[in-house]
Amino acid sequence: MSLNHVRPWRNIYRRKSRQIMVGDVAVGGDAPIAVQTMTNTLTTDVAATVAQVQAAADAGADIVRVSVPDEASSKALKEIVRESPVPIVADIHFHYRRGIEAAEAGAACLRINPGNIGDEKRVKEVIKAARDHNCSIRIGVNAGSLEKHLLEKYGEPCPEAMVESGLEHIRILQDNDFHEFKISVKASDVFLSAAAYQGIAEATDAPIHLGITEAGGLVSGTIKSAIGLGNLLWMGIGDTIRVSLSADPVEEVKVGYEILKSLGLRHRGVNIISCPSCARQGFDVIKTVEALEQRLEHIKTPMSLSIIGCVVNGPGEALMTDVGFTGGGAGSGMVYLAGKASHKMSNDQMIDHIVEEVEKKAAELDATAEAAE
Ligand code: SF4
Repeated sequence: MSLNHVRPWRNIYRRKSRQIMVGDVAVGGDAPIAVQTMTNTLTTDVAATVAQVQAAADAGADIVRVSVPDEASSKALKEIVRESPVPIVADIHFHYRRGIEAAEAGAACLRINPGNIGDEKRVKEVIKAARDHNCSIRIGVNAGSLEKHLLEKYGEPCPEAMVESGLEHIRILQDNDFHEFKISVKASDVFLSAAAYQGIAEATDAPIHLGITEAGGLVSGTIKSAIGLGNLLWMGIGDTIRVSLSADPVEEVKVGYEILKSLGLRHRGVNIISCPSCARQGFDVIKTVEALEQRLEHIKTPMSLSIIGCVVNGPGEALMTDVGFTGGGAGSGMVYLAGKASHKMSNDQMIDHIVEEVEKKAAELDATAEAAE
């Protein structure tokens, strides 16, 4: 349960944005901040792409983006949309025909920049296709592909140029009476991204898709994203996020959730609080946490678990968690339930036992939530 009313220093005041729909997922307004990722299979390989979409959805992705570079991919997209458990965003660059085909294939959203797809007639055709097929649009401004006239005006990619680019694309959609759009202003530089996002957040009430583009590999990209997205989310900016990593899309989803969980913006699965371990540890904390992370991946219920090596911090952390284990002496430790010391458990049976206790608690929390509905 959130206790933010007695802990005002934890409050985040979200920027007020319009709400749009991406398929059946609401983005913006008071909707939960949606987590996205993108497939990296060949879109024409329908089986591989659907498997990747499914894995991402199982990890908690609310929306998945798929690249549509050619006509064969547009055809494959239709099947992918049919098989997908979550709304699919079609990633389109420059070619207006792909945009029309993707809307016809059932994409829930087009990631397309209307200023980059040719003359007014083509733009109108894409917007009409989006409207006819209940398809929203994401304007995706990227520091690496800013329009020539803006680079000439500003000399280099800068926050002002990115905001101006975004507003130009927005104007095209609004001039065509199309309002189901969200916007991103991504850069691989954290400072540039953060400044551009703050600028666009002030300039429009459109929902904002957050991302640090080309952030890097699993560790460096996670850190960059946590700093960039974390700061913006903390300021209340952001309605949907995608963490871009040179890693499996499932990792992007996990990192996205961890960022939101750290800020108390979304809760899913077991939040494990564990100590780094030291010579005082009563059991192997690192191996235990690794094993528990894997064994508890199937739990979707938001709950907390503390795994602490010794009594220095164990009882204190256990006070605030649903289930806890604190190392003790003689090959065993103390299990805590709802913050209270409950019973002793030997180290060699502890992992199985903690999994059971967490599953029991999750079932109990689910039943309470169901009864309250
Ligand atoms: S809780 Fe105990 S085992 Fe863990 S790091 Fe602190 S002193 Fe070391």
